[in-house]
This record gives sequence, C-alpha cells and structure tokens, in this order.
Amino acid sequence: MSSDHRIYSYSAVLMGSPILLKLYSHNEALAAQVFRLIKQYEDLLTVNRTPSQVMEINHAAGRHPVTVSRPVFELIRCAKAASLVPGSAFNLAIGPLVKRWKIGFKGDSVPPAQELAALLALTSPAEVCLDEEAGSVFLTRPGMEIDLGAIAKGYIADRVRDYLRKAGETAGLINLGGNVQTLGSPEGGWTVGLKKPFSEGQALVGALVVSDKSVVTSGTYERYFERDGKCYHHILDPRTGYPLDNELDSVTVISTDSLDGDIWTTLLYGMGVAKGCAALRARPDIEAIFVTRSQEVILSSARHFRFTLLDNTFRLTD
Ligand code: ADP
Ligand code: MG
Ligand code: MG
Repeated sequence: MSSDHRIYSYSAVLMGSPILLKLYSHNEALAAQVFRLIKQYEDLLTVNRTPSQVMEINHAAGRHPVTVSRPVFELIRCAKAASLVPGSAFNLAIGPLVKRWKIGFKGDSVPPAQELAALLALTSPAEVCLDEEAGSVFLTRPGMEIDLGAIAKGYIADRVRDYLRKAGETAGLINLGGNVQTLGSPEGGWTVGLKKPFSEGQALVGALVVSDKSVVTSGTYERYFERDGKCYHHILDPRTGYPLDNELDSVTVISTDSLDGDIWTTLLYGMGVAKGCAALRARPDIEAIFVTRSQEVILSSARHFRFTLLDNTFRLTD
C-alpha cells in the first residue's frame, strides 16, 4: 500500500444516476474497470431499456421459459424468496403495476381501481417459475413482468465491493444513488449523509459513520407525483396496488450486503416503525433508521454504525 492517505474520487453517469467511486489509491484504470462492470450488470438487469435478460423473460411471459446467466438467475431466486415471505411488501413480480403507474415519469396518473385489481392478478411471485437445471425463468401468465428496480443497485454495489477487494484495494466506497457500499475503514470509517426528505439540494438530517457496511436509503420523496393534494410515491404495496401509505418519509438500512439493504428497506416500508423495529430484533445483522413525516428519526439499534443528528428540527429516538 502507498504511504499516500488521500482519497481519490471518480464519477460517471450510469443507470440514470450520477455514480461516485472513492478509492484510497490514485487508479484511473481501476475506476474505469469498475464503471464498466456496473454497465455490464445494468445491461443484464434493467427493465427500462432493451434488450436485457430480464426484459427477455418479461417478453416471453405466458409463452416460454428463458435461460439466463447465473447472476441473473441467482438474483431472481433471491428476490422470489423475499417475495414469498408471508406479508412481505417486497414483490419481484410487481412490474405490471409499476409500468401502469409510471410514477415519476411522463404520463403518471392514478389508475382506476378496477384496472389496479386486474393488474394485481398478474403479480403473484409464486407464478415466477425457476428451473434450476436449465437455469431458466418462466412467467406463467401473459402480461406478467419482473421488476428488479428495487434491488439491482444493491446487487451491483455488492459486486463492485467484491471486485475492489479482489483487486487488492483495502478501502473504497461506491455510491450508486441511494445505495452506498463501503470497503475498509479509512480514518476510522466512511461518513455517509442521511438526506433530508423533500428538501432541495444536499440538505442532511444526519450523518452515519460505517466500515465494511452498506447504507441504503429508500424514500417516498425520491420519485412521486401529486394529485388533489395527495402524494403518490414509487414504492407500491403489492397487497393493494397503491403506493404504501404510512408514517414514513424514508428508511435507511445498514447491513453487510447492499442486496439485503435493498430488500429490507422495502420490507420495512411495508411494516412501518413499530413492526419494523420488532422484526429487526430477530436480525442483529440488519439495522435501520426511520425518518417519519412528523420529523422523528428512529434507530432500531446502532451496533454497526455511529449516527449524528445534524438538523435540530428532527427529534432522535433510539
Ligand atoms: P430507487 O433506488 O431507484 O429509488 P427503490 O430502491 O427505492 O428504487 O425501489 C423502488 C423501485 O422498486 C420502484 O421504482 C419499482 O421499480 C420497484 N418497486 C416498487 N414497489 C415495489 C415492491 N413492493 N416490491 C419490489 N419492487 C418494487
Ligand atoms: Mg434502490
Ligand atoms: Mg430508492
């Protein structure tokens, strides 16, 4: 390792967001490789651009199975398992609803209730059929669609961390916009900001310090539209077909893998603060910070990070 302890930042625009990579060494070539890796995974997993393997599965819905690469198969298997947990707010087959709502995109509108009911019938995770031997995925009904939008970034962030570790880096941070994954512990840890919901610019509620951990934030403020004084955001309730409606403005999950962080932010959004904190008592490896509409900041626990409140209009409870 060099005796130089500066941190070098590299940026790119990928997956529709600005991506930031921080390294403990000056290494343009490594940064370029990391950005290439992100692009390769995006091409496998996106549902917003053709042709990805996930889109191939969706296009073949009700017709035939599609053989996919191992990482795609494994990610879909993991997403299906999370979707099948009773009461889970996470559903990998939520695609038809996401497409219909178009939240945060041109033409978003509140769909008629009947239409939502019809689309709900196309979102059963049990009807995502996996053939282990063939490595194929089959959606049993025409119109079904897998959407990995809630977990693709986490999965990719974990692959970047693994890649940096293999390349011999002792410290690094990747920020995919909402998903931060960290390697190592420069100067006692990495500082990650917790965004202030619905605020302009870079305003923060607080800051976390972590080492070798992922920090994922999912917020209702990220993508939403307003109609008749009501806010419709991009995390949908698979039980009703409408955006999840509760006391939360954002949920941040601290975990080793960013994929777990992605799945748990969605699960916790569905549970709300009280049920969420109760569920996390059985999972010491997963910790959460809830930010509520009434400006409370609630920590489920804080074993693997340090948190500092930076905005005094919020109240901290733990
Ligand atoms: P982003 O990181 O892009 O802000 P999130 O991680 O907050 O996205 O997840 C929201 C995205 O996940 C939606 O845009 C949609 O593609 C998908 N999604 C929405 N509701 C659900 C759900 N209940 N289960 C799984 N995925 C969902
Ligand atoms: Mg996300
Ligand atoms: Mg998000």
